[in-house]
Amino acid sequence: MRFSPGDLSIELPTLPDGDISQAVTAAQAAFVGWRKTPIEARIACLKNAQQRLAAEKSDLARGIALETGKPITEARGELDAVVAKIDLAIDDANKHLADQTETDSLHPNLIRRRPRGVAGVIGPFNFPIHLAHGAITAYLLAGNTVVFKPSPHAMNVCETYGELMRDSFPQGVFEIVQGAATQGQQLVADPRVRSVCFTGSVTAGQAIARATADDLSKDVALELGGKNAVIVCADANLDQAANAIADAICLTAGQRCNSTSRVLVDQSVEADLIARLRDKLLSYVPGDPLLDTTRLGPLISQQAQQRYLQAISSDVQWLVEGAKVDSVDNRRGHFVLPALCRLDADDAPQHALFTQEIFAPIAAMVAYRSEDHAIELANATDFGLTTSVFTANRARFMRLADALIVGNAYQNLPTTFSPGTLPFGGLKSSGNHHPGGRSFVRFATDEQVVQMGSVVRGS
Ligand code: NAD
Repeated sequence: MRFSPGDLSIELPTLPDGDISQAVTAAQAAFVGWRKTPIEARIACLKNAQQRLAAEKSDLARGIALETGKPITEARGELDAVVAKIDLAIDDANKHLADQTETDSLHPNLIRRRPRGVAGVIGPFNFPIHLAHGAITAYLLAGNTVVFKPSPHAMNVCETYGELMRDSFPQGVFEIVQGAATQGQQLVADPRVRSVCFTGSVTAGQAIARATADDLSKDVALELGGKNAVIVCADANLDQAANAIADAICLTAGQRCNSTSRVLVDQSVEADLIARLRDKLLSYVPGDPLLDTTRLGPLISQQAQQRYLQAISSDVQWLVEGAKVDSVDNRRGHFVLPALCRLDADDAPQHALFTQEIFAPIAAMVAYRSEDHAIELANATDFGLTTSVFTANRARFMRLADALIVGNAYQNLPTTFSPGTLPFGGLKSSGNHHPGGRSFVRFATDEQVVQMGSVVRGS
């Protein structure tokens, strides 16, 4: 039985596991025609899907809030991004998929990008539609067919999305299959699946990399976790920094790959930042995800709540005490309070609160002694997704950004800032190939170089 994480009295319908092999068979059969379909006709199908999705935006947003506990205002933002993504993906397709031809050289030639075949897309629970949808649109525009396996935590809302998408394309071009890790494993292991885009945890990403290691012709794009830091320099506007940090700790209850979970502060302004950050964090109180006023929703599951409880039971100095909240407005859910601890700079790199993704509204603060020390601490995890630097000095920011091993560096913006109009993705254990942002259409294709020698007639 499944229940809404923000109201455990609401039972959610459960959909049966689907048949991966059958879906791949349908997608493979459809590939023959879809790859030859002119790009203009593929774009028309995507625009059709866009209209359908736009018409269902508020129901889909409600579905996300009900099923995952994401606050409704955030869920609406996710749907806006889903609809907007289609135009961005079409721009990318027009930019990257056109043949490059050279006719005036000795051997006329062309460089073209060709679809790979059936693509498998596996999605997480926290942006259940948007993250998969980015990869799906790129694959489809490039002429691939797609089998989508959504998160089991968001099966109903993804099924609705899947139906809207399926009806916008010829039969078999887009397939959705429900299930959990087993179906994900079957999808990536199917030899007919030529390309995989996975968004989720590092553990599952590693399992997928291992499972596909022997098939060198299968491309695998991974968008994984984060342990994102904010660096607050002595010249920072501390109110601006505290606002951005609190927000990026609490958005989606800390369950974003780019949530802030580490705060590195210049030791000269530590006390001032703590005072401000405490006030901001205490203003985030859990609420019903379906209400417009709610800024902090519940965690996804009891298991996630247990992981949070274990983290806040650590024997460290807590600046903001976390706690489980059993009920909100008389409804039971997986609610928790934001928590902030302080770690000693020399011990921090060995501490799980500093190195491991907890996926809850918890952050660890560390005071640094110099700019080099801040860089060393920021880079002292296996992750490399986003880091924000709060400073009034652009040259200092550029210097730090150059030294930070992350895919996305921001000045005076929250770590969760990711407008969708630029590339987005992680380094190190946070992933590869930047599937989350612009230009994924390049990954969705193979490049072929064609050269023509002279035609010699006669024998
Ligand atoms: P998860 O890894 O538990 O599950 C993600 C998906 O993978 C689900 O559909 C699941 O059924 C499937 N799955 C699980 N094990 C699998 C396996 N061995 N083979 C194939 N499929 C498998 O992740 P989650 O809890 O849904 O999402 C949270 C994680 O996702 C966090 O680590 C977060 O940082 C990460 N994430 C990353 C980004 C990014 O852009 N880098 C974005 C969102 C979420």
